[in-house]
Amino acid sequence: MKIKHCPRCKSNLITKSGVIKERQRYNCKSCSYNFTVEKEGKSIDSYYVIKALQLHIEGISYREIERILGVSHVSVMNWVKKYKIKAPEKYDYRPTYKVLTLTELSTFFANPANLKNTGMMVTELGDKYMMIKWERLKS
Ligand SMILES: [Zn+2]
Repeated sequence: MKIKHCPRCKSNLITKSGVIKERQRYNCKSCSYNFTVEKEGKSIDSYYVIKALQLHIEGISYREIERILGVSHVSVMNWVKKYKIKAPEKYDYRPTYKVLTLTELSTFFANPANLKNTGMMVTELGDKYMMIKWERLKS
């Protein structure tokens, strides 16, 4: 969430003035109004919202998503509600995920055995890469 205006006088002369209870505090230079909003950060970055929703659809729990992405499970629950994301109720597989460095990722892909009968998705995550991998069902 980018704050551009004072909610009271609509001035854009606002400055950050500390963080209170994980909320960013702002001060308006025009009318001296103090207000807080949810802290800016990666939890609000749409990149992480989309990653979190992808993981949710893959059947990964809110707590696990919190651990992987570092965003609060409450935020993830709110996004699921907000975007009306409905994950399938039954899974015939359970995906596994790993956070890998570029070197680890290269080593993984260099081994053809790791690519057999699987599907996977690799996505950039900070300075590392997150790999979600699921085994294809044997028919
Ligand atoms: Zn103001």
